[in-house]
Amino acid sequence: MAAPERLLVRVPPLGDFEDVEVIEILVAPGDRVTAEQSLITLESDKASMEIPSPAAGTVVELSVSEGARVSEGAPILVLEVSPAAARGAQAVAAQRSAEPAAAPRDAAPPAAERARPAEEAPAERRAPSPERPAGARPAPRPVAPSAGERLRADVLVLGAGPGGYTAAFRAADLGRGVVLVEREPVLGGVCLHVGCIPSKALLHVAAVVRETEELAGAGVAFGAPRIELPRLRAHKQAVVKRLADGLVTLARQRKVHVVQGAARFESANRVRVEAPGGATTVDFDHAIVAVGSRPIALPGIPDDPRIWTSTDALDLEAVPERLLVVGGGVIGLELATVFAALGSRVSIVELLPELLTGVDADLVRPVRAALEARCEAIWRGTRLLELRAERDGLRARFEGQGAPAEAAFDRALIAVGRTGRADEIAAERAGLRVERGYLTVDAKQRTSQPHIFAIGDVSGPPLLAHRAMHQGKVAAEVIAGLPAEFDAAAVPNVAYTDPEVAWAGLLEAEAREKGIAYEKAVFPWSASGRALGLRRPDGHTKLLFEPGGGRLLGAGIVGAHAGDLIVETVLALELGADATDIALTIHPHPTLSETIGLAAEVGAGTATDLLPPRRRSQ
Ligand code: FAD
Repeated sequence: MAAPERLLVRVPPLGDFEDVEVIEILVAPGDRVTAEQSLITLESDKASMEIPSPAAGTVVELSVSEGARVSEGAPILVLEVSPAAARGAQAVAAQRSAEPAAAPRDAAPPAAERARPAEEAPAERRAPSPERPAGARPAPRPVAPSAGERLRADVLVLGAGPGGYTAAFRAADLGRGVVLVEREPVLGGVCLHVGCIPSKALLHVAAVVRETEELAGAGVAFGAPRIELPRLRAHKQAVVKRLADGLVTLARQRKVHVVQGAARFESANRVRVEAPGGATTVDFDHAIVAVGSRPIALPGIPDDPRIWTSTDALDLEAVPERLLVVGGGVIGLELATVFAALGSRVSIVELLPELLTGVDADLVRPVRAALEARCEAIWRGTRLLELRAERDGLRARFEGQGAPAEAAFDRALIAVGRTGRADEIAAERAGLRVERGYLTVDAKQRTSQPHIFAIGDVSGPPLLAHRAMHQGKVAAEVIAGLPAEFDAAAVPNVAYTDPEVAWAGLLEAEAREKGIAYEKAVFPWSASGRALGLRRPDGHTKLLFEPGGGRLLGAGIVGAHAGDLIVETVLALELGADATDIALTIHPHPTLSETIGLAAEVGAGTATDLLPPRRRSQ
């Protein structure tokens, strides 16, 4: 047998990139690697890319370290390979690179197009991307199944939203063989592509627009904003893409087998995945259903491109002159905030008497006041009777006090709620019960079939990404035999309106409805030096305690950055903290977080920033 040879592996051509950071070394001396196995991960401000091995072999020594900055041709590591593998690597490198290999034993690995071994990732589908520099290794997309392919999984995860990818990654980290099936050609689900992330990127823009307007009152005027819609859209998409590419890297590093296609159960241990390229079946020991939710359609609404779902609105196809938002819930109000800031004349119609139904009235009032100032109209307690798509626009008919009988709009956004997708996966063939689109689960996330789990939106409300992620971990850990349960003391809710509203644990409305006794402690932001300095006194922090100085039961905050502030109260709820615990926790001055400490002081009777203090503690 011929003696092994040593191959110096170098950084391949990186297109326009130079001086890129090594963010991760994926192998160590002594490791056996296969051809195309990722060796290191590079990250620039635009993309992350993995550098694959040009040949199978054993890592002898590393030539780079994490944090180093490299360009094309920089040495990565020395690999011990068979002479045939060395020749193969050089041939491919010579073919792919405009530059000849620097030395007989040097090899720059090829750019991405070379196929990976079938057992690792068959037939990767790679969408050309205008944002990716020429020559850089594109992040692989989920693989489309080849017709008739059969797979087996310890853990099959259906849906790669925040619930699904978290469950898949945790299960892989716990040593399980995982197949992750996703209908779309990208990972990340509603939250990443058409939900939390793009909406928050746009809400940030709305907040800055409002802040600059607000500063005029302090003698600093910027003039009207000039909105370049294509650039704003590109910014939003770049944020999404960066995170989506990161998910692909994380999946690959964990050897999670990603399959693209729509899955439906065939039995309690098999699904069939349909994709344009063919169908495959996956047999599984355990399954985690994480197929999420879809918008509820209003009956009688015509199918017209000017009538939007939240997905269409986030596409930013246009900033309509007049926009009707149907539904005064979190999604409707967030998007109303965005489009009002971008220049639309927004009207909101809500069937129920108040916006953000179910949230305490004192928390909603400042949001409504702010929206009333920025929107053309808010019609509460009003029913949309009809929406007609006409050549020159949309015509809506209303029934409700204060609303016009009829009005014209350029676009309408229907945001009247969402429902689970459990009715789309032939759940009955697996023996699962579906109730109004949802799968019911126990505290271990088990459905009526103990080896099939459901997490995230498809397991019912509240439909929140952070809840989905936590449930995903619980399901994976239960499958791995760990003593996990979803027993969170509170799941925080945030409406990223302006001002934001955030709440966790008990709400006053709920306490009254259920007859739960509580004591309320409120700190108005008009007494916060920081809020005044920010010109944002339009908020307050409210804490609900057990009577007699007991534990925290719930918290509600309305004001700028309420969504970031609420987390302290969630921790307090988890730890069973009382008013004194929170009041004695030193909060930095002057911050908005201080309002939580000050509200707790009100509850403990020790507040000195407000008069008169209640005397309970000394
Ligand atoms: P999803 O994210 O819905 O993912 C499910 C995945 O399953 C999807 O990728 C889908 O393509 C795939 N799938 C569906 N059917 C199949 C099938 N048959 N086979 C294979 N794959 C399938 N939540 C927050 O916590 N904070 C926010 O700020 C926030 N903002 C939002 C803004 C908007 C506009 C919207 C619409 C939602 C927002 N949400 C927010 C809610 C959040 O997006 C969801 O709670 C979260 O995405 C649920 O995660 P999930 O994993 O359960 O499902």
